[in-house]
Amino acid sequence: MTTLMMKFRSSPFLEHRPSLCSYCLKPVGGLLFHHKDRWYAACSKEHLLKIKKQIITGKRNTLKAPMINNSAVIDAVSSCKDIYTKLAKENKSYVIHEWKKDDRVRLFHQAIKEYLVVCTEQADQGFSLEDDG
Ligand SMILES: [Zn+2]
Repeated sequence: MTTLMMKFRSSPFLEHRPSLCSYCLKPVGGLLFHHKDRWYAACSKEHLLKIKKQIITGKRNTLKAPMINNSAVIDAVSSCKDIYTKLAKENKSYVIHEWKKDDRVRLFHQAIKEYLVVCTEQADQGFSLEDDG
């Protein structure tokens, strides 16, 4: 068993690094726990130690899948109009599956990023039905 607590900046980790803490599902900053062939991300040193204990004892807490916020999806899609138009012109097609893979990934990356920004703002400020008005 290998235990590491460090911040990785190398390319493979940047491509595969988790977004959420394996203990509480908060966004992570780069703390990782390595056990056998698996990596687990943590939001804090405290949670990194809790993850380590859970993994070693085999007593994992159950993580809930988040609910999808339809309003945030609509906002994210709307905010991607400019990049979609730019990439469509570069690919000479408005049909996404005809684009280069890197460009499809770029569009969805942007949409997911925007979605998470909206959800983070909502978590920070709460929401009101007046927000859409
Ligand atoms: Zn956490």
